[in-house]
Amino acid sequence: MELLEAEKTHVYRFGNKSADGNSKMRNLLGGKGANLAEMSSIGIPVPPGFTITTEVCTEYNLLGKDAVVEMIKSEVEASIDNIEKLMESSFGDKENPLLVSVRSGARVSMPGMMDTVLNLGINDEVVVGLAKKTNNEHFAWDSYRRFIQMYGGVVLGMKPASKEDIDPFEEIMENLKGKRGIQLDTEFTVQDLKDLVYDFKEAVKKRTGHHFPSNPWDQLWGAIVAVFNSWNGDRAIYYRNMHGYPEDWGTAVNVQAMVYGNMGDNSGTGVCFTRDAGTGENVFNGEYLINAQGEDVVAGVRTPQQITKLGSQRWAELAKIEETERLEKYPSLEELMPSIYAELNSYQQKLEDHYRDMQDMEFTIQDGKLWILQTRNGKRTGAAMVKIAVDLLKEGKINDKEALLRIEPNKLDELLHPVFDPKALKSAHVIAQGLPASPGAATGKIVFFADEANKFKNSILVRIETSPEDLEGMHIAKGILTARGGMTSHAAVVARGMGKCCVSGAGALKINYKARTLTVDGHEYHEGDWISLNGSTGNIIEGKVATREPELTGEFAEIMELSDKYAVMKVRTNADTPNDARVARSFGAQGIGLTRTEHMFFEVDRIKAMREMILADTVKGRKLALQELLPMQREDFEGIFEAMEGLPVTIRLLDPPLHEFVPHQLATQKELADEMHISLQAVKNKVAELEEFNPMLGHRGCRLGNTYPEITEMQTRAIIEAALNLKEKGMTVVPEIMVPLVGTLKEFEAQEKIIRETANTVFKERNDKVEFLVGTMIEIPRAALMADKIAEKADFFSFGTNDLTQMTFGYSRDDAGKFLPIYIQKGILKVDPFEVLDQEGVGQLVKLGTERGRSVKPNLKVGICGEHGGEPSSVEFCYNTGMNYVSCSPFRVPIARLVSAQAVIKERI
Ligand code: PEP
Ligand code: MG
Repeated sequence: MELLEAEKTHVYRFGNKSADGNSKMRNLLGGKGANLAEMSSIGIPVPPGFTITTEVCTEYNLLGKDAVVEMIKSEVEASIDNIEKLMESSFGDKENPLLVSVRSGARVSMPGMMDTVLNLGINDEVVVGLAKKTNNEHFAWDSYRRFIQMYGGVVLGMKPASKEDIDPFEEIMENLKGKRGIQLDTEFTVQDLKDLVYDFKEAVKKRTGHHFPSNPWDQLWGAIVAVFNSWNGDRAIYYRNMHGYPEDWGTAVNVQAMVYGNMGDNSGTGVCFTRDAGTGENVFNGEYLINAQGEDVVAGVRTPQQITKLGSQRWAELAKIEETERLEKYPSLEELMPSIYAELNSYQQKLEDHYRDMQDMEFTIQDGKLWILQTRNGKRTGAAMVKIAVDLLKEGKINDKEALLRIEPNKLDELLHPVFDPKALKSAHVIAQGLPASPGAATGKIVFFADEANKFKNSILVRIETSPEDLEGMHIAKGILTARGGMTSHAAVVARGMGKCCVSGAGALKINYKARTLTVDGHEYHEGDWISLNGSTGNIIEGKVATREPELTGEFAEIMELSDKYAVMKVRTNADTPNDARVARSFGAQGIGLTRTEHMFFEVDRIKAMREMILADTVKGRKLALQELLPMQREDFEGIFEAMEGLPVTIRLLDPPLHEFVPHQLATQKELADEMHISLQAVKNKVAELEEFNPMLGHRGCRLGNTYPEITEMQTRAIIEAALNLKEKGMTVVPEIMVPLVGTLKEFEAQEKIIRETANTVFKERNDKVEFLVGTMIEIPRAALMADKIAEKADFFSFGTNDLTQMTFGYSRDDAGKFLPIYIQKGILKVDPFEVLDQEGVGQLVKLGTERGRSVKPNLKVGICGEHGGEPSSVEFCYNTGMNYVSCSPFRVPIARLVSAQAVIKERI
């Protein structure tokens, strides 16, 4: 029986080594809340607090503020009471105040999406009590100043008015610094901080028309509601859409006792990872700052220090800092606070062992006591993801199935991304160095604002530092470069998550947003100038640098091998050239699922013959042109067969939208007229004659082969002759000839007849034979519906889900770009159906076609060769449909191999 709303628990407590919830309650408590509960119950020192469930957020969206506050009021009050007891202090108390933090926490980590408020519960009276309690007036007023600034921005909406403006609170601080002739926040006196608090509150009144809330309870409810509201903020919606997370998940709210890392030299704060998030190396690492609050570490104003001695020494080497200077100015936590370090080290080990995955933790040292603020599975690069999974497997912490499921298929793409061409790199001019925040290579034109990232085809986003507002632009840009911020800065963490090349904290850069310039060493670079980034070394390079495709080795190969142990469905590739075929085979392709023969004619020397063939008025003329094309095709096929020796190769007969091949420019029309010895007017007439209203639904596919049978004859001859030539050399060739765009059985039969007759003629001529199959694409809805009839004749089916999507939705492949992005933005469609197979609709035709086909031929070979063949969710669908293989572009082969294995594992779980 479902619980009535009033009977449900809306608030879950944690702290003092116990908790109401646990890590399995992610959906209800959010990732952060579930982790805090779990950590607390396994004996990690977590500051006490409570979590308001995600269900309350959903209720809030339905019922609004008043009803929801009424619903949870008594639970929240009792939970604050519980924290007060554990921390031996009181919320709003003038003598011994308890301050809290308020954080959001959705069920999956959404970095930077939700806003945090710290130091909540402070006001003009509490600040005095805090100063007395900590014996640190400066700290108390600084906490107050920070609180108003955060609360003003997050809860009261006082963000900068335009992108060129600075934060209104920062502006007040900058003015005061100017007046006082100081540079750093830390130089403010107590009186300065008091003045700032006053000025901040005035600014709030002026901007919002209301006094800044002084009652701690009003502050608390305001912050809770702000977290709920942020779930429906633009940034959160963008992130959700990007990842396909549903709106009704909602976010939880975590309220927790504040602990302070800025209470003097015996305090500090930091971020750490149980393994290297960039490379996956099994080394504990991270950054910390003495006498600082959490955001100081990521804000990049001060240079964070390394946690371990090893990390510190590596950092110093990169930063070219001598050992004596390092020890004096930037000692590691291991060296500076050995016993705290030892405790932290034991917790990181405990947490990784407990969660059996790399953890990303935040901690604070308050006056010599260590508190762990949060832990989560760390974001990592594709390379680190693979290495960590393989290492955990070898360490016996996870089994091989788990290791495979740990790999996010799309992230493998990163490992296949270009690196700089070493030759081009030799002459590269390195202008500065930053931190190697997220590996890879990127080259592009400078842009300074995230919302202008699409100004150039390839852009590099250059910022002083990034913030969550920049997310969309970071996604679009090829690489990200920041002047400030460490390895755990927003730019670094988000870029790693996206698998995007990033260099952060390049202090030598002077960025002027107004002038849109970047100055390094007196040299000025402007918007639109090319620069290149090496995310693996931190190098910033002037100009454009050629990139090179990476090679697969080590752990990647181990994951691939492991995939093949479980995978049942084969992975082939779509390849049109011998080179593509070789690349795909090196990635593990088990054959070719589609060779688009029309793509072989785009090269200069071939397009002429192709045009002559298309423009020919008579069969004789066409045959002459085809005669020219025959040796070229044969040679290509030989190359492809050779590259795929021993494996099946599906070659599709010509399927060109004719308009792509005819010349539209006068000069080319003239050239062609001369070559064909006909008049320019004749060429023009023919071009006009071939013009189609809807070429995608026009004279293409088997319609071409059936109206001009000599084309099918020539192509079959080229395929069979190539196969026989290789057979003579002792190679095994497995050709599969595929007929495109079949809608009726007769269309297929007519083509099949030509193919088999031509093959027999060649066999007789050569007095030799090869085995071959004749199959069809299923890419017209009618073909799927008539699959049982077609299967009586066809040897195999290959679903062409590009055309099948086009014709099922009625969206022209050529024109969908105009409206699909708007449909996705408006939520009319969740994703682009040309990218992710529409399992619900188009998928029905795929299933039905497969079933009907196999109803007459139980062992009918079925595959897919549309773009969906390399998209993870679609590949999984293909497996569940019972396909024998998927076929995708060479660089997606490893992804499809992995998903093919994951699908089997998931099915068995
Ligand atoms: C398809 O339609 O899915 C297909 C593979 O063919 P093409 O993209 O060449 O039309
Ligand atoms: Mg097609």
